[in-house]
Amino acid sequence: MPAAFIGHGSPMNALEVNRYTSAWRAFGESVPRPRAILVVSAHWYVNATALTTMARPRTIHDFYGFPKALFDVEYPAPGLPELHTEVADIVEPTWVGADVDSWGIDHGTWSVLVHAFPDASIPVVQLSINADKPLDYHLQLGAKLAPLRQRGVLVVASGNVVHNLRGVDPRLEDDGFDWAKRFDEDAKQRMLTDPTEFAALDAHHDYRNAVPTPDHFIPALYLAGLAGAADDDASVLVDGYAYGSLSMTAYTLGIQCEETSAQGGTAPGPTDAPADSSNM
Ligand code: ZN
Repeated sequence: MPAAFIGHGSPMNALEVNRYTSAWRAFGESVPRPRAILVVSAHWYVNATALTTMARPRTIHDFYGFPKALFDVEYPAPGLPELHTEVADIVEPTWVGADVDSWGIDHGTWSVLVHAFPDASIPVVQLSINADKPLDYHLQLGAKLAPLRQRGVLVVASGNVVHNLRGVDPRLEDDGFDWAKRFDEDAKQRMLTDPTEFAALDAHHDYRNAVPTPDHFIPALYLAGLAGAADDDASVLVDGYAYGSLSMTAYTLGIQCEETSAQGGTAPGPTDAPADSSNM
């Protein structure tokens, strides 16, 4: 089974069709039908490592200040409670809790899956990001998830490699600041050629600007871990920038989707300036 890291950007991408969402759709159409989708979302950033285990996970609208249409989005995919035992086994001695009722499917997950898997028929589980752990923990946990690929589980990590909400400039709808581009390009080199060193990006000159808080960066470490554990290299699914301080770069592993890089495309990116940027 392939795997992916998706730069999800504004929640409004859930409602829009642009070259990013088209790439996410192309990815979903390219993969064999998974037994389940395990998502590591930037928006479940808590003080524990846990997996959702409810049979019917709720759709969580974890933002405010956006149009009602976004609050009306439901992603009614089933869960897969028995996946917890499998994941707990393969990541030992790392401990993974079973979340029975606190979380569900957040917008870091559903804003991508409504495009990639629009019929919501494949079971979805979320793996939380343990905020107490260093970057290397997440890289190593990602690598430990590798056996899931042989068991029909699609691992999707959802965040943004560059994510600085204080720096958002609505006038730069489809462009990035120089520091954002420098960091994203160097992260790209690392992901494609040396993924086991992805966590060392915290020493990069632009890290503090690009990653003021690690929640959106950490999901990329899970794909880097999987890439380091795999025989093949990651590839770029789509790339670009939004509002100056977000990178939209997405990567796949184990599959090559149609080229939709920024250089080749002229279609617009996200068209709505963030009404409230505090929850992207
Ligand atoms: Zn986000």
